[in-house]
Amino acid sequence: MDFANIVFFIIIAFVVPLFIVIQGFYKYKKEKKSTITVSKINHPNLHKLLTEKYTYYNKLSNEYKEEFCNRTLAFANHFKWQSGNETEITDEMRLLVSATAIQLTFGLKQIDFSPFETIIIYSDAYYNNLTHKFHKGEVNNRYIILSWKHFVEGIKIDNDKINLGLHELAHALDLSTVLSKGRKFYLSRLMVHFRNISSDEFMKIRSGMPSFLRSYGGNNLREFFSVAVEHFFEAPLPFKKFLPVIYDEMCLLLNQDPASNIYRGVEANRFYKQNNNLSINDIAKTKPLVKSNISFAIIIPFISATFLAIPVYLFTMTILSAFFNFTLIPFIIIIAIFYWFVLKNNIRKILIDKNHIIIKQPLSSINKYTTIAIKNILYADFRVNNTYEKVDITYIDKSEIKTKDIKMYFTKSSLITIKKMLLQNEILIRQNNIWSKKQSK
Ligand SMILES: [Zn+2]
Repeated sequence: MDFANIVFFIIIAFVVPLFIVIQGFYKYKKEKKSTITVSKINHPNLHKLLTEKYTYYNKLSNEYKEEFCNRTLAFANHFKWQSGNETEITDEMRLLVSATAIQLTFGLKQIDFSPFETIIIYSDAYYNNLTHKFHKGEVNNRYIILSWKHFVEGIKIDNDKINLGLHELAHALDLSTVLSKGRKFYLSRLMVHFRNISSDEFMKIRSGMPSFLRSYGGNNLREFFSVAVEHFFEAPLPFKKFLPVIYDEMCLLLNQDPASNIYRGVEANRFYKQNNNLSINDIAKTKPLVKSNISFAIIIPFISATFLAIPVYLFTMTILSAFFNFTLIPFIIIIAIFYWFVLKNNIRKILIDKNHIIIKQPLSSINKYTTIAIKNILYADFRVNNTYEKVDITYIDKSEIKTKDIKMYFTKSSLITIKKMLLQNEILIRQNNIWSKKQSK
């Protein structure tokens, strides 16, 4: 066994994995750092201002208050502020409008409202040359426009279900999601889901029937969303009582639940219909309803095992040639045992019964897998086009909403079985942009 071999072996077996781990650790640290954006600008009066004038702020815990202030400042500094007429825009105006944007998105990760960068404030309702009407606010092209007088009325009376700031910023969030070209993919999926869930109520308002929501929401689906946001924050309890399905959907979308005084995350138990934490052994004995895709079940584990086998191969070779007269038979036996060991735990990775889908990632430890209870699936999106095929399953896992592409795990006919199974469970399905099943309830 010569020196060069030992060095080579050490590099392959230790240095390379160590390098990967260290690199991953730094990347993780960097990511962690960049998610917390704390504005450098200090504003000692902000806490006082929000305590006096912003009801929502007073409901937050101290820890959340601090984050709320930081995010409000970051928003205020990020945006350009313009006066629509002669009114001077004060710090207080900037900060209160920013606070409204943060109230709306507090449950979400810090979000930019791009392409919107400029907020124009008029002192009162203003004349719009295009519509030939007086407006209190609007969101167009790249501008968010507000009448200060009506904005103040909106935050002053916090239970009349009218809040101009929330209304216009909800439009901005909605449009920003649409215009983000996929960057806010996750949010846009929930928006689509929200529209679908609320289509009955929307049609009801449109046809002039009485609804808990203001009739203005019947104008179009964008207005419906903005009006619903106003009701969500200003009258959460009656909203939940009269329109529970739409209310729940709004909770999931904004990741807060004002009726339960939860401003970050949602109360898990209410949405979480079935236990996700099922052991793989619990259903391993039942007959699987579907077949795994061959590449996922065998080819990927085989390639992974081969990749892992390189150090074993080198190690075995080195030891065998150093201490014994190298022979092929023991070498093959050692490698075979290794393959058997790796493949044994990885060959069957997908299990499905009437209530659960269990996916075990290749080469993950024996107890690590994704379990999705069918009842916790919000919707499934079957998308096929020229370049790709995807089956996204969006489901609730504790208080989080997750999306997983399951296409790679199954054969084509199994995907059809899954689709049938989801429909039987009344799960909303979208295929080629058409929702095929409306959730009953
Ligand atoms: Zn509107």
